[in-house]
Amino acid sequence: MIESTSLLSSLNPISPVKTRAYAMPDASGHFGIYGGKFVPETLIKNAADLEAEYTAAKQDRVFWSDFYDLLKNYVGRPTPLTFAKRLTTELGGAKIYLKREDLNHTGAHKINNAIGQVLLANRMGKRRIIAETGAGQHGVATATVCALFGLQCIVYMGEEDMARQAPNVARMKLLGAEVRPVGNGSRTLKDATSEAIRDWVTNPDDTFYIIGSVVGMHPYPMMVRDFQSVIGRETREQFLEAEGRLPDVIIACVGGGSNAIGMFHPFLEDVLEHTSGETRGEKKLRLIGVEAAGEGLDKRHAATLTKGRPGVLHGAMMYLLQDADGQIDLAHSISAGLDYPGVGPEHSHLKDLGLVEYTSATDSEALHALKHLARTEGIICALETAHAVHIAIQEAMRLQGSQTIVINVSGRGDKDLATIMEHIDL
Ligand SMILES: *Cc1c(COP(=O)(O)O)cnc(C)c1O
Repeated sequence: MIESTSLLSSLNPISPVKTRAYAMPDASGHFGIYGGKFVPETLIKNAADLEAEYTAAKQDRVFWSDFYDLLKNYVGRPTPLTFAKRLTTELGGAKIYLKREDLNHTGAHKINNAIGQVLLANRMGKRRIIAETGAGQHGVATATVCALFGLQCIVYMGEEDMARQAPNVARMKLLGAEVRPVGNGSRTLKDATSEAIRDWVTNPDDTFYIIGSVVGMHPYPMMVRDFQSVIGRETREQFLEAEGRLPDVIIACVGGGSNAIGMFHPFLEDVLEHTSGETRGEKKLRLIGVEAAGEGLDKRHAATLTKGRPGVLHGAMMYLLQDADGQIDLAHSISAGLDYPGVGPEHSHLKDLGLVEYTSATDSEALHALKHLARTEGIICALETAHAVHIAIQEAMRLQGSQTIVINVSGRGDKDLATIMEHIDL
């Protein structure tokens, strides 16, 4: 058993964790050609202030001890790494482990990042918090930390999403947040994000914008990654404790990409070592990101890295679903959390470098995988997570019993029950 306090204290990012060779982004916030700060003139100062504050906070032991204290005593970290015994036996291939982000307070990994950003807002003396949300998961995480810190909270949400995600709207309101309906465009996440950016432009002085994934202008993709990297650092220690070595394959779903990069980042050095030929006969560690193939890659989907092209959205250069004229295409996935036409700049770069493999699973593959995991392990995962579970099942059957797979279980499925019941015969 790993003793929880020692595990958490050893996770402080200013203690020597392995991030030497892979020290992205560069000084101007670029991951290769991706990322950057494509913002209106009025936001340049906001972005610069935020970057300066985060740079200072990063070196501040008090900031990280507050962060880890809340993760431990409020969120409930460290989350367990569960051996999926029945699923493993049934498939007859690689050993499967589950990193249990579903057991966090509010039911997903998003709270890790919300805690980090609210601490930063507090440091900067900003008492008005804005956020955007699609499925409502990030909105709930943000409303939660605002209640915890006694801050004003305004969440922008597309009217279409508000109708689809009524329980999360109720949760946010109960937590004291104001949910502002967005009626423009497709009335979904993309439009809510544009509206939140507009608010930030109008209220630059007293307002902190909490972004929910590794997207947006620099320094958000780096900052959100740093906060979410607690997932991979815990997994690394827990897996070494359980198996005495590193896993062979690590799999996570990719919407904006925050749970995946949080899981992958502490292992990138290992992948780099393998690729640069420094290894002595060790097997290559594979990192696999799974996007939503929706109804199929030739129909409506959200497989940005698989089918998109580089372009600029919401402040950064990234792979993007767009038509021949560069107009943003609407994304589609059965899971609202993967339903975004862009993807984090760091993932875009990792794809081009070939350090992470990106693949996809359809709506129906995800639904089957969700049911399969529920029946073998007693865990109802989020529909987003189920995309990763589908690919893990395929991989496990191809691999030997001596090999190992870790799935990042990004969240629990309670929020998806209505959608699941529409599609699965129980
Ligand atoms: C929001 C969400 C995702 C997708 O967001 P990422 O930034 O790609 O992690 C995945 N799983 C769950 C449970 C979510 O709530």
